[in-house]
Amino acid sequence: MALFAEIPSDDDARVFDIKSPVTLESIGQFEAATEDDVRVAVDRARKAQGAWASRSFKARSEVLWALVDQLVERQDEIVELVVKETGKTIQEAITMEVMAPCMQISHYAKYGPRYLKSVTKRPAGVMRFSKKVTLHYQPLGVVGLITPWNGPVALAMNPLAQALMAGNAVIHKPSEVTPFSAVLVQEMAEAAGLPKDIYQVLQGDGATGAALIESGVDKISFTGSVATGRKVGAACGRNLIPVTLELGGKDAMIVCSDADLDRAADGAVRGSFFNTGHYCCGTERVYVPESIYEPFVERVVDMTKRLTQATTGASDVGAVFWDKQMDIIEDHMRDAKEKGGRVLVGGERNRSLSGYYFPPTVVTDVDNTMELMTRETFGPVIAIQKVRDEEEALALANDSDYGLSGNVWTQDLERGARIAERMVTGSVSVNDISVTYGIPEAPFGGVKESGVGYVNGEIGIRGYCHIHPVIVDTSKKAQGGYPYTEESAAGMRRMLKTVFGNKILRKLFV
Ligand code: NAD
Repeated sequence: MALFAEIPSDDDARVFDIKSPVTLESIGQFEAATEDDVRVAVDRARKAQGAWASRSFKARSEVLWALVDQLVERQDEIVELVVKETGKTIQEAITMEVMAPCMQISHYAKYGPRYLKSVTKRPAGVMRFSKKVTLHYQPLGVVGLITPWNGPVALAMNPLAQALMAGNAVIHKPSEVTPFSAVLVQEMAEAAGLPKDIYQVLQGDGATGAALIESGVDKISFTGSVATGRKVGAACGRNLIPVTLELGGKDAMIVCSDADLDRAADGAVRGSFFNTGHYCCGTERVYVPESIYEPFVERVVDMTKRLTQATTGASDVGAVFWDKQMDIIEDHMRDAKEKGGRVLVGGERNRSLSGYYFPPTVVTDVDNTMELMTRETFGPVIAIQKVRDEEEALALANDSDYGLSGNVWTQDLERGARIAERMVTGSVSVNDISVTYGIPEAPFGGVKESGVGYVNGEIGIRGYCHIHPVIVDTSKKAQGGYPYTEESAAGMRRMLKTVFGNKILRKLFV
């Protein structure tokens, strides 16, 4: 049964029905925005954006703080809706969809003004005697925000807060699988005092997202899969608009032979099962040296067997949010089993529950011939591969088309940092699951197929700006160059030789 399906409508409208993965019952319908709807929304946003941008940082911060108040006041409503819409556990809904946005929005409300304040300085070199440069962080205008279903509130509100703080208007196309969370975000934004048309939600599927890119917006902030990211990147290239692409991952965990095994096993379990494994930085591959392999696997199996799965939302591992993802998880498991993978826990869809549930699963005897080790599974599966030593673990970790995040476990923190630096990924954690996205100071972005550009922190929020340098000549008389004469050219040559021909002076000058 499809959780997301188009249903017949009386006119040309494209109407979709959404079912909860917990109960398989309908939770509502929505109508997809058309190309015309998108154009009208962008037009309205453009008209409203100037007044928003002309508000002071303090006034924009106040709206963000009010948005944090909304999150706190309406947390029960958010949790209830997100659990119904996605099937994630209550604990994960609070952590990911309430707590994380509170932290992120607070960060930009407090530090946004510092990140975006105009800076004036004297340039380096000879220019310093006559020029002053001021860098202004100007809003881009109207930002198109396209988001996925695994963190419907968090992955919308974090880029939204940054784009708004920078003075932009935002048109948001949420995932077709989680449309109602976006409606709630819009309600909270209005209640927080955000002016009309500065944040608009347009429901729809890929066609609406594609229309948004063609609608004349000034940037696309995209979070989603690699396959869609390629299309979005190509369309933005055609339209010559900037884009950040936050894409999928296949994060590796390296367990060093000196690791605290209880702690590392707990890390594997949390890293792989958090959010039903629908976590872009979820641990998808675990590499363990043979010297500690048996006791490590034993601990992981033991911890996994103790986890609960139920439709109440109060259990440890929630539902699979979308039937399409269930197909991918089942395909990867089938492929792994056919090629010799050994299932120690779980491994088959949990049919004892009426909704879409896959049990927490542990698989060993895996290798790179299997999709489970090479393509993003995005499900509650721990895949453990025995390796000779840490060097082999590192080589396998880096032998991937993806490069989002990863983690290293050792009691020797310096060794951990050395291995972390050699991981070809956007970020790495030592002795923790990947938490980079939750630390606003850490620029978050993938390498290889995992993305282009950064979200979060100073570099992230400045990505919603055009950096506009204004250069003022402060000298008393004109700096004219004409007429060119042999004498003026000789003067230039002398200056070149004196400054850049001198090893000390050239360092002083730049
Ligand atoms: P998806 O790529 O299928 O969809 C993402 C969004 O793009 C949806 O809103 C969808 O409607 C829209 N879309 C689809 N086709 C489009 C097109 N041609 N033009 C414009 N928009 C289009 O991804 P998903 O299945 O919703 O999300 C899961 C993926 O997101 C996973 O790969 C996961 O790793 C990734 N993800 C990445 C991060 C990160 O920060 N790197 C965070 C969360 C999720």
